Amino acid sequence: MSIIKENTMKDYPVKKNEEQIVTILDLSHEGMGIAKVDGYLLFIENALPEEEVRVRIEKIGPKFGFAKVLEWLKESPYREEDAKEELLRTGIAPLSHLTYEKQLSFKQEQVTNVLKKIAHMPDVTVSPTIAMEQPSHYRNKAQIPVQKINGQLTTGFYRKHSHTLIPLEDFYIQDPAIDEAISEIRDILQRFGVKAYNEEAHEGFLRHIIIRRGHYSHQMMVILVTRKPKFFQADKIAEVIKEMLPEVVSIIQNVNEEKTNVIMGPTNRVLYGKSYIEDQLLGKTFRISAQSFYQVNTEQAEKLYQVAMDFAQLSKNDTVVDAYSGIGTIGLSLADKVDHVYGMEIVAEAVKDAQTNAAINGITNATYLEGKAEKIMHQWAREEVQPTVVFVDPPRKGLDASFIDATCEMQPERVVYISCNPATMARDVKLFAEKGYQLEKVQPVDLFPQTVHVECVGLLTRVKD
Ligand code: SAH
Repeated sequence: MSIIKENTMKDYPVKKNEEQIVTILDLSHEGMGIAKVDGYLLFIENALPEEEVRVRIEKIGPKFGFAKVLEWLKESPYREEDAKEELLRTGIAPLSHLTYEKQLSFKQEQVTNVLKKIAHMPDVTVSPTIAMEQPSHYRNKAQIPVQKINGQLTTGFYRKHSHTLIPLEDFYIQDPAIDEAISEIRDILQRFGVKAYNEEAHEGFLRHIIIRRGHYSHQMMVILVTRKPKFFQADKIAEVIKEMLPEVVSIIQNVNEEKTNVIMGPTNRVLYGKSYIEDQLLGKTFRISAQSFYQVNTEQAEKLYQVAMDFAQLSKNDTVVDAYSGIGTIGLSLADKVDHVYGMEIVAEAVKDAQTNAAINGITNATYLEGKAEKIMHQWAREEVQPTVVFVDPPRKGLDASFIDATCEMQPERVVYISCNPATMARDVKLFAEKGYQLEKVQPVDLFPQTVHVECVGLLTRVKD
């Protein structure tokens, strides 16, 4: 066995630390340049299609390896000149070296490719990605790890695939008011002698600083994620934060005692103000609590929801399901246009937000339940709820097959699929197709400029027999 392994090792056409000159053939879905040496695949950071680069081989595996650019011999005409290395290296903005136009077509192609390869639907129309006008400084939420470096509390971002912190103050894709607040809060906590969490030893105190800022309201929430509940001088610290940052309406301590990569723990304690912020979306007001999901790019989320509503061709007779509803943003945005909205969501706090949001906006024809979408959909099917339109907006892993079964049993005219992961959407639309729903068209919307994340909306219609 070991002989076989040794032999294959010897057969690699490249060796570690050796230099090679290669031409980049394609861009991986993670934004890495792809090259081949005698059929062996190399992934190369900061390298774009058609570029010719001199690289050093850094890592070799059985199927592919990684290399680092030493010199660009020929540059792509689509290279964005002033891209910052640390933004590529941290994965904050792994496409920021590619012109925005090309980022948009890259995303459109990603969707076309998965529909072809996974769903076997090569003929579905995938429209050009809807762009953001100013594609930077858009994130309304930041989750920033804290570490002790040279005796100082330091904020920044992890190097890709690692937990090595690269110090950063300008995060480029975040609301600049959030960037400033992070530095300010870090300095206040340093003055109070707050200790950074040490991941390896699982000791220390402050793990993350999370900030949310309403795009329209400018209301700010600060969440300090700590390893232990006991927070020395918490009230005093909250007072100083509030004084230095007048937009802050909510300061929360979130306790995460586990040794885990999951950022937030289960318990929250309000240190100052309210337990939520409010913001506007398509003219309605939404309350957003600490644990609730909220799209990070408000301007583009409005376009996304608009596309979803247009696809749905809503009328007053429609009964709508808003599945994976979060704080109810989709269902409540369209409640005026339809007869009734039924929504469900797994996070209890978000469901409460959705119910409150219906009330705040004077909406009386929306029902939101807490629970797993796949379970509640079956329950509604048994109760003979008859939706005409079903919106789904699941997390990256996509839909549960039994959710698709229940939906098809209810025979809605249209299913509008909002996806943050085209690969799982492609898998799911194939299941829908087997049950008589045809994918008519797909519209990508750029919710995450400068990153490789792709968001899109697909319209499925029921084929009449
Ligand atoms: N539609 C909302 C939220 C979309 S994010 C918006 O646009 O803001 C996906 C949501 O699905 C999250 O709120 C997450 O908590 C929820 N979720 C994840 N798994 C779920 C499941 N099995 N059942 C119901 N909701 C789920």
